[in-house]
Order: sequence, then C-alpha cells, then structure tokens
Amino acid sequence: MNRNEHLIGGRWVASEHPAQRVENPATLETVGTAADADPSVVHAAAAAARAAQELWASTSPETRRDALLDLAEQIDRRSAELVDVLVAELGAPAQFAREVHLAATLGDLQGFASALEDLAFEERLGNSLVRRRPLGVVGCITPWNYPTHQIAAKVGAALAAGCAVVVKPAELTPLSAYVLGEAVQDSTLPPGLVNIVFGEGRSVGEALVRDADVDAISFTGSTGVGRHIAALAGGRLLPVALELGGKSASVVLDDADLERAVRWTVRSATVNSGQTCSACTRLVVPQHLAREAELLARDAMAELRVGDPREDVDLGPVVSGAQRDKIIGLLAEAEAAGATVHSRTVADRLSGHYVAPALVTGAERAAAIVQQEVFGPVLTLQTARDDDEAVEIANDSPYGLGGAVWSTDLSRARTVAARIKTGQVDLNGADWNLQAPFGGTKQSGFGRELGPHGILELTYLQSIQE
Ligand code: NAP
Ligand code: MG
Repeated sequence: MNRNEHLIGGRWVASEHPAQRVENPATLETVGTAADADPSVVHAAAAAARAAQELWASTSPETRRDALLDLAEQIDRRSAELVDVLVAELGAPAQFAREVHLAATLGDLQGFASALEDLAFEERLGNSLVRRRPLGVVGCITPWNYPTHQIAAKVGAALAAGCAVVVKPAELTPLSAYVLGEAVQDSTLPPGLVNIVFGEGRSVGEALVRDADVDAISFTGSTGVGRHIAALAGGRLLPVALELGGKSASVVLDDADLERAVRWTVRSATVNSGQTCSACTRLVVPQHLAREAELLARDAMAELRVGDPREDVDLGPVVSGAQRDKIIGLLAEAEAAGATVHSRTVADRLSGHYVAPALVTGAERAAAIVQQEVFGPVLTLQTARDDDEAVEIANDSPYGLGGAVWSTDLSRARTVAARIKTGQVDLNGADWNLQAPFGGTKQSGFGRELGPHGILELTYLQSIQE
C-alpha cells in the first residue's frame, strides 16, 4: 500500500514531502509508504475539524449513534484488508488481528453507539438545567500496539460526544489508519469531522498539541511523551486525557485455581507479543506455591508458538528492531543482576524482530525488569507471605493501570481488588468489557476511555439557570 496523503476536510490531500517507508517486522521488507507531514498540514486539518464540529454539536444522540454504527459497518466491510494490513505492519498473528484488533475496533464504535441510547446529556438540579457540551476539536495521538482499536476508542468517543477530531497515528503503523480513513470517507459522517494527519510525533504530534483550533488532547503512549504533552497542554490549559501504559500484577490468593490463574496470566503477558499496556506482567503467588507456579508458567510458555504471523501462531514478532533490542537488553540486565530468565531461542529461519516469551524468577522487587514496562512477552514471578504482602507488591509500582485477582471467594477477591490502586482489576479471568471505563492512576495517566464514561470525558458541564 503506497500512500502519501492526509485526510483533511473530507478529501485525501497529497503531501508535498517524500513518503516514508513502512517495515514489515516479520520479514523486514517494505510493506508500503505513508505520508510524512510538514506540521503546517496540522493547522489545515484542525481548521477543517473546527468548521465541521459546530453543526455536529447540535445533532441528536440518535444521529450520532447511527453515524457510529455506519462507520463500524464501513470498517467491517474492509475487515479482510484491515487484517492483512495489521499482519503486515504490526506483525499481529492473523487470527489475533481478526478476533481481537478488529473485533475491539468494531466493538468500541458499537459500544459508543449503544451508550448513546441511555446516556443523559442533561439533568435537572433545582432551577438549573445541567448540560454536557462537547469539548470541540479533539487531537488524538495514538500508538502502534493496538493501532485501530486505539483510534476507534478516541474517534468514537469524540464523535459520540459531538466533537470533531484530528488523528495522528503512530509512525510504525500508519497503513491501518489509511484503511480507517477510507471507511470514514465512505461513511455517512459529514466531511471534515474526522481528519487524519501522518508523520512524526515530535513534529506533527506536537503541532497538534499547540494548534489554536485544538480544544483537547487524547493521548495513548509512553509515560515520557505523555508527561511532555501534558506540560505543553498545561501551558495552554488544554484538557488532556493520558493513557500511559502499566506494569500490572496478577495476584493469586491461596484458595485460587492456580493452574487457571497462571495460564491466564501467561496469556495476558504475551498476547500481541507482550505489547499490551494493561497486560498482567507480574505474577504474584503465595510463597508455598512458588515452585508449582513456576513450572506451570514455564509449561504454558513452552506451548506458545512463535512464528510468521501469516501462519497459525500465538506470537508474531515485536513491532520494531528498537523494541526488540529494548526487551533483550532488559532481560540481559535482569540476568546480570542475579535473576533467572527461563526462555528459549526463536527458530533460525525467523529473520524478523522476534523475541521468545520469557519467565523471570528471582528478581529483586526494585529490579528494572520488575519495575519498568518491558512491552515484550516477559512475565516476572514474585511471592507473597499473605494477602497484605501481595497487595503491597501489586502497589509497589510507579504505574496504576490494570491488574487481576484470583480467589474462589468472590468477596475476598473484591476486598483485595479494592486495595490495588489501578484503574481496572479483573477477577478470576473475567471478560473484557468495552463499556467499562478504561484508564489509569499514578504514572499510567488520567482520564477514562470507552463506553459512557469515555464519551463524558470529552464534554464539559454547562449549568443553565432558569
Ligand atoms: P510514544 O513515543 O509515546 O508514541 C505514542 C504516540 O505519540 C505516537 O503517535 C508518537 O508518534 C507520538 N509522539 C511521540 N513523541 C511526541 C511528541 N513529542 N509530541 C506529540 N506526540 C508524540 O511511544 P512509542 O515510541 O511508540 O513506544 C515507546 C514505549 O511506550 C513502549 O516501549 C511502551 O513501553 C510504551 N507504549 C505504551 C503504549 C500504551 O498503550 N500505553 C503504547 C505504545 C507504547 P511517533 O509514532 O512518530 O513516535
Ligand atoms: Mg516514539
């Protein structure tokens, strides 16, 4: 797919700059090109969004619901192409691309549509009519790990709230954003409501945060960039929502089904090649079950098939050489510090950016491998004397995004979950819920995405006294 345009005001506008190459992380071949913007296109996109937003803000929730459902349908029509692109640019195994990346993308939009059916944009308080009004033009800066889901989560919420958007997709995965742009073009959405500008975060992303026509920023990515964006936005008093990754703990209590808990946690830590912000990457088990948990985790990891994402595998490559080097570096550092890395080598015939899943035991609580977000298929194992120490270990992290608790006693699991300072906790492997608010505490950021709360995040309150 060779592209070199931006989506501005309902048209694909050719870039005046040479396109940039997109690499297939499994083969290291070029899979296509994408536009590299000059920051000046950002202003044209934001102005187009501003022009379209005013009318959109006055539409009914039903109109917006229908438009979201139509957009989901247009994306679904391109599902085969989208899966191929996600396999090629991200290295996602085809089945995972279909069942998780694509399904979540459609689910996000359908979830916002259904939330609009009973979301109250007005309430009465004495002599006041309290209204939720759209923030305006939202700049959406997204990462590469779930490229279409993250765009849909931001764009869907914004459109549902009555906002318009300018999206800046990640440079590593721009091609799926072109497919989404085509779906926008064919949808019933008015032109200019969804604009997409491509190019580097440091220049284009930053221009978006600085643009006078942008009223709010929704960002997902690294804590370092999030902090930088929040500082820039602070200078303008621009509202920001930041979703910044994590280091979530899966806490297994002594009455839990250990095998189920360990298998689920290994999957959580390794799917999408470990590139999931809410992944449970720290397994915390009772001291007396440590050996059993280690053997179960090593077995579960040994079963994972790593290979060409076009084939029937569990893990493809990681997204880039830089990402692979970072993971290998953190594992080497852990080993040098005395921890044991249980891993295997990937097959010689695999020439892409592959990393074999790894279990790390015996690492200190303060070690980088336990504290830092690795963003690769790596799970650490820690032990706790009792529930109190398990909670203490879970909270011993700069991050506060996700987590899991395992116990056959639901009320005990809930009590432990309430003590874990993160935005979401899954009990006993419960299903992912796209209506539930998603976001973090501490260095995982603030603001919530998805469902009704994700829509309300992009509104402000207006009280009208009558
Ligand atoms: P990143 O640099 O934070 O990138 C996220 C998005 O922000 C991309 O669209 C990026 O553009 C853009 N960006 C970068 N610098 C910017 C700036 N100064 N102003 C405005 N926008 C900017 O993340 P990454 O480099 O892709 O990954 C680095 C690490 O972040 C990973 O190893 C992982 O630990 C973490 N991460 C977390 C999540 C998550 O879901 N929370 C997702 C991805 C990565 P470019 O594409 O041009 O860089
Ligand atoms: Mg970056």
